[in-house]
Formats: sequence, structure tokens, C-alpha cells
Amino acid sequence: MKINELFGRSEPVVSFEFFPPKTPEGTEKLYATVEQLKVLRPSFVSVTYGAGGSTRQSTIDLVSRIKKDLGVETMAHLTCVGSTREEIRVVLQRLQEAGIENVLPLRGDPPQGESEFCKVEGGFGYANELVEFIGDEGFGFCLGGACYPEGHVESVDLESDLSNLMKKVEAGVDFLITQLFFDNKDYFSFVGRARDAGIDLPIVPGLMPITNVAQVERFTKMCGSKIPPELMRRLEIVQDDPSAVVATGVYWAASQCRQLLDQGAPGVHFYTLNKSSATMAIHTSLGL
Ligand SMILES: Cc1cc2nc3c(=O)[nH]c(=O)nc-3n(C[C@H](O)[C@H](O)[C@H](O)COP(=O)(O)OP(=O)(O)OC[C@H]3O[C@@H](n4cnc5c(N)ncnc54)[C@H](O)[C@@H]3O)c2cc1C
Repeated sequence: MKINELFGRSEPVVSFEFFPPKTPEGTEKLYATVEQLKVLRPSFVSVTYGAGGSTRQSTIDLVSRIKKDLGVETMAHLTCVGSTREEIRVVLQRLQEAGIENVLPLRGDPPQGESEFCKVEGGFGYANELVEFIGDEGFGFCLGGACYPEGHVESVDLESDLSNLMKKVEAGVDFLITQLFFDNKDYFSFVGRARDAGIDLPIVPGLMPITNVAQVERFTKMCGSKIPPELMRRLEIVQDDPSAVVATGVYWAASQCRQLLDQGAPGVHFYTLNKSSATMAIHTSLGL
């Protein structure tokens, strides 16, 4: 099923994101995690595309296997990093042959050790070019797009980031998923600015339940999302007690989730980090 057909129904569109593990044992563990989360009846699950396209085949294998064997709808992430359009066409063909209907085309981050994204010769420089390519090639996938309530780390200001997002929307994405954020005001203000700019696509908030303080500090530094002082204060109080950190993270994300859905968000996308318990606790506490 195409994900855009799920919006506008009575149920929120709830999705879980996973990344491809590096070892066969890790893959089996992930598969068990997806199976555990399946009982929550997610609208779809998505599998990321590793830096530099390093997980190309495992992304394709995982989305195919989850869809075929577990009967859960999937979306494959795909980046432009280090690939020519011919190489990307091959990946898209494989996804199509595997019966995948949903793709999240991204530019991707600069490879490790490089500070700027450089497109390869014959490749793409921005996500909107990849989106346009997929449309022009007639693949017929339902396409998601990434967006950034607090602005993308490389963007000069929120206005230019929004006008760049507009290019991706005009190129043909069907819905948007946000970068993780911890302050709902950032989401609501972003949605307001997007609507004013004429973007009327579903904008799904992306949430990451904090389970580890050092890890979230690393992520937020990388992706430019800020941790509100109140959340930081609570985490500092419990930082030496791992289970209290998880409880704090679950409580915060569940509160965010409740307010987002009450105030009109079309669903929630959980950055699970391949773990089931925090996502499960939030889901259950909200009775989703
Ligand atoms: C939901 C989600 C899922 C993700 N999944 C993955 C994943 O699986 N693998 C992975 O490696 N990374 C992933 N990322 C991270 C993502 O690759 C990075 O944030 C990357 O830096 C930007 O990708 P993008 O597709 O948003 O790029 P773009 O939309 O191309 O934007 C990148 C930057 O360029 C600017 N820009 C965009 N278009 C233009 C234009 N036409 N002209 C000038 N400037 C422009 C934007 O303002 C922005 O600053 C994900 C992010 C999100 C939010």
C-alpha cells in the first residue's frame, strides 16, 4: 500500500524507523524487534540507508523481508551520497522488483571526514533532484521527504530552508517527515510557516525517545535539534540511573506525542534506534 493513502483516515499514521545492522546476528535481532513492534500495528516501518550508500543491499533486503514475511508495510530510505544516477536507478529497480511501494529520497550527509556534501559526477546535489528523477523515470513510488522544524544544519536561515523544501515538494513528494525535535513549539511553528508558504502535504513529526544521555547529546549536535532546558534539567538529575533516564525519555516523548496528535499532527514517526521497549511504552501509554 502507498503511504499517502493512509492519511486522512480516523487512525493516526504511526511509523517506526530502523537502521540496518552490520552483522547477520544483528539483523536477526532487529527482525525480532520488528516482530515485537508488529503487535502495535504500525502503519509502516522504514529502514534507513547507511552513510555513503554502505547499507544499500541490506536496506533493500530488510524492507523486502519485513513486507513479505511479516506483512508490515515498508518504506526504503535512499540517499544520493556517492552514487551516479545509473547506480540509483538500479537500486530503484531492485526495490520495485521486491514490491516496495514507498521510498524516502534524501540527499544524505557528507561522508565521514568531509565537511561539505559534494555530488559525484553524474549524481545528484539535492534531494529535490533525486525526487524529480524518480518521478521522471516513471517508477510510481509514493515518496516521502525529510524536513527540519529547527532548520537543516547547513541552512543559512529558516526562510531559505523552507524555500528549498518547497523545491522538494514541487518535485513531487507526497508527505513529509520531520527531523527529531523535543519542543513541540518548533513543530507547530514550522507547520504554520509551511502552510503559509503553500505546502499542504501531511507533515509527520519525528520523535526519538531518549534512552541514553550521551547518545542524545551526540545526535542533537549532529542534526541541530536542541534539547529544551527543562528536559536537560530532568536528565541531569537522573543521568546516573539508566532506567530513570529511559523513564524520563518515555515520559517526555509520550507527552509530546499526546499534544501533537491532539493538536492535529497526522501521525508520529518514531526513531527507534532498533530498540522496541521505549517505543512500546509510549505507544501503550497513549493507547494508540
Ligand atoms: C526523516 C529523515 C530520515 C533520514 N534518513 C536518512 C537515511 O536513511 N540515511 C542518511 O544518510 N541520512 C538520513 N537522514 C539525514 C539526511 O540525509 C540529512 O539531514 C541530510 O543532511 C539532508 O538530507 P535532505 O534529503 O533533507 O537534503 P536536502 O533536502 O537536499 O537539503 C539539504 C540542504 O540543502 C539545502 N537545499 C535543498 N535543496 C536545495 C536546492 N535545490 N538548492 C540549494 N540548496 C538546497 C537545504 O536547505 C538543506 O540545507 C534523514 C533525515 C530525516 C529527517
